[in-house]
Amino acid sequence: MSQSSPLTKAYAQQLDAQDELASYREEFYLLPSLYLDGNSLGLMSKRAEKSMMDMMQSWKELGVEGWTTGSHPWFFYSEKLGEMSAALVGASPEEVIVTGSTTINLHQLAATFYHPVGKRTKVIATDLDFPTDIYALQSQIKLHGLNPEEHLVRVASRDGRLIEEEDIINAMSDEVALVVLPTVLYRSGQLLDIERLTAAAHERGILIGFDGCHSVGAIPHSFSKWGVDFAYWCNYKYVNAGPGGVGSLYVNRKHFGRAPGLAGWFSSKKDKQFDMEHTLDACENAGAYQIGTPHMLSLAPLLGSLEMFQEVSVQKLRAKSLGLTRFMMDLIEVELADMGFTIANPQQDDRRGGHVSLEHDEAIRICKALKEAGIIPDFRAPNIIRLAPVAFYTTYTEVWESVQILKTIMQEKSYEKFENKREVVA
Ligand SMILES: *Cc1c(COP(=O)(O)O)cnc(C)c1O
Repeated sequence: MSQSSPLTKAYAQQLDAQDELASYREEFYLLPSLYLDGNSLGLMSKRAEKSMMDMMQSWKELGVEGWTTGSHPWFFYSEKLGEMSAALVGASPEEVIVTGSTTINLHQLAATFYHPVGKRTKVIATDLDFPTDIYALQSQIKLHGLNPEEHLVRVASRDGRLIEEEDIINAMSDEVALVVLPTVLYRSGQLLDIERLTAAAHERGILIGFDGCHSVGAIPHSFSKWGVDFAYWCNYKYVNAGPGGVGSLYVNRKHFGRAPGLAGWFSSKKDKQFDMEHTLDACENAGAYQIGTPHMLSLAPLLGSLEMFQEVSVQKLRAKSLGLTRFMMDLIEVELADMGFTIANPQQDDRRGGHVSLEHDEAIRICKALKEAGIIPDFRAPNIIRLAPVAFYTTYTEVWESVQILKTIMQEKSYEKFENKREVVA
């Protein structure tokens, strides 16, 4: 056992009373259920609702003039949100733009940074990647007339949960042009050593980019300091921008001026865009990797949400998140001992993300029983229950309660009445 603190409800309440972020819970619309799925879809905040309503109002009152007038002119909104989110990833304001989606942004960045030349034709990913990243890389490889079976190298996991940095580095041969990795693995919650992997890629003349979906908003990054070439992420998980909220991309300033692989008129320098020339004069910062008209109604909630990230640093959020997940793991080890659970995420703080990954042979049915008991977890096939206490709105007391409820479900075997079949959306 790793814990030294008492695993009691009273202790949880004491931690909540001392929590300097406690007031932020009031900023969110909490559900009747205890929500542990903020790593799939963050809850709505009142400020996100307000910036969304402000956007509707500006459309209502300004019509097309909203592009250039009003308190947040739409024409500059993606840039403004990019500036506001730069601190989340350790970037300068011009290195981040809010545009597209995770998948689209990976297509854009691979189209921009993957140039197979001579024998350097391969792309490294991992066997445990989120499928969309793999599909996008496969199609980018095909667009170059190459066979993804041969040119996409998926680094294997030794145990089905984790990927060893050493194995990734060993795969960085002189046939590799590009490495694309998750910051945090979506199932096991493993946090990769981004700095080490970036240095290793660069020593070998390889470009490297990261999918930050499972870390941005929960874990601080220093992309610019580490020299990461590019990154992309969604804002609807820990950044609470709402379902289908617009994604983000980061391009290191050393690459500014590199032509966008997928160009569009929003790639233009802002002051040249309305010259309507047929020769693109691309912007010389991350804005160049935009394509078309921004999805204003899906951008708007992010403005309100990011205000909170400007008040509370991601370093503070990470400290609380580590406290919540540590408390949860300690409780699980004691309360759920010998009930068939395995904690699949790494234990060390510098190797784990924002969620606890619990494996159990009955994971599907246990998740259904948790929902019935008023807890919203997240199931990932074949046997993973992801539990994400979120620093902005989850309390230590809720963590304590959720483990007690899970214990009762296991003792009473109340999961047995559910069908062992996953839902369409899991
Ligand atoms: C959530 C997630 C995505 C989702 O991509 P979309 O384009 O927003 O659908 C992609 N990659 C990872 C690692 C994710 O966790």
